[in-house]
Amino acid sequence: MLHLSISIQNFVSELLEWYDQNKRELPWRSSPLPYNVWVSEIMLQQTQVQTVLPYYERFMSAFPTIRDLAQADLQQVHKLWEGLGYYRRATNLHQAAQKIVSEFNGYMPEEYHLLRQLPGIGDYTAGAIASIAFGQRTCAVDGNVLRILSRLTLFEEPINDPKSVKPLKDLAQTLVPAHRPGDFNQAMMDLGASHCRANGVPTCRLCPIQNACLAFKKDCTTVFPIKKSKKPRQIENRTILLLRADNTLYIQQREKNALLGGLWEYLNLPGHLSENNVHTWLKEHHAVYSTCQSIGKSRHIFTHKEWHMIGYLIDLKSRLPLSGRWVTLKELQDTYPIPTALAYFSQKILDYE
Ligand code: SF4
Repeated sequence: MLHLSISIQNFVSELLEWYDQNKRELPWRSSPLPYNVWVSEIMLQQTQVQTVLPYYERFMSAFPTIRDLAQADLQQVHKLWEGLGYYRRATNLHQAAQKIVSEFNGYMPEEYHLLRQLPGIGDYTAGAIASIAFGQRTCAVDGNVLRILSRLTLFEEPINDPKSVKPLKDLAQTLVPAHRPGDFNQAMMDLGASHCRANGVPTCRLCPIQNACLAFKKDCTTVFPIKKSKKPRQIENRTILLLRADNTLYIQQREKNALLGGLWEYLNLPGHLSENNVHTWLKEHHAVYSTCQSIGKSRHIFTHKEWHMIGYLIDLKSRLPLSGRWVTLKELQDTYPIPTALAYFSQKILDYE
C-alpha cells in the first residue's frame, strides 16, 4: 500500500485551503446538479476548459434537462457537439439520457455502481458525479490525479498502463475526505491543470502540497510520471472530393459503427489520388465537370489513428447518382454535423464559395 510522506489530514487541509482561495469559477460548479456535473465531465474529457465553456452553455440551453436530451434527435446533439471532437461522447450522453428516463424516471441514479452502468460513464466520471453532485466519498482518478500521486510518491510503474495503477487508485480513495469529497476531487483537478501540469515543468514553488511531494524534495519532478511508450498510430491516407453541382454539395453519412459513426462527411476515397486518378474516377462515374482543382492537404490525429488527407474541389455540370445527399451550404451549416477532422475542407468550401 502506498503512503504519503505527511499525514492525510494535513495533506487534505492544505489542498482544500488552497482550493478555497484559488478554485476556478465554472458554471457547473456554481450549480452542481447531477446533470450539469455529468455533461461538464463528459465534455472535459480530452478537452480544455476554455474550449468547453461555450459548448456547455449552448448544450444546456438546448437541452436544459435530462428529459430534453433524451427526446432530442441524435443529429441535433451531434450538431451541438460539432468541433468538440470525440463524438462517441455525445452519442453516449444521448443514450444514457434515454436510459435514465426509461429506468430511473428521469433522475440520475446516486449509486456509483448504477452510474457505472450508463453508457459513457467510466470509473472516473462515476466518481466525479457521485462525489461532486451527491457528496459521496468516492475518488475520481483521471490522468491528472495519477500524475500528481505518482510525483508525490515516486511511483515507479507506468501510469498509462491500467494494470499498474491500482496502488495509486487505492491511495486516491484513502485521501478523499468524508466532509468534502467533491471539493477534494475538484481541487486535485485544478492542481493538475495549474501547478502539477502534464506539459512543461510543474510550478512547484506555488504548489500547496509541496510538503508532501517526494519528487519536489528529491528534485526529480520531470522524471515522474513514468510512462510506457505507446504503439505508433495507424496512418490512413484519404482523398477528399468536394463535389459541387446546382448550388449544392455532396455529403454522405458515416456508418453507424465506424469511427465518427453517424456523422456526415464529404465523398472520400482510400489512398492519395493524383489529379489524373481523380479524372479517371470522374470518367468512370460518367461525370461532366467544368473544374477539378487540388485544394491542399490536412492531417487529423485520433487516439490510435491518423488521417492524412488531400483534397480536390470539383464543379460538376449535374449531380452524380450517389447514395448520399446534395445539400445547400445553409443546410450543411444548420443541420449536418461534420467532424472536426474535416474542418480544413469545410473551410475550403467557404473559401471557394
Ligand atoms: Fe506537482 Fe510540484 Fe506540487 Fe509535487 S510539488 S505535486 S511535482 S506541482
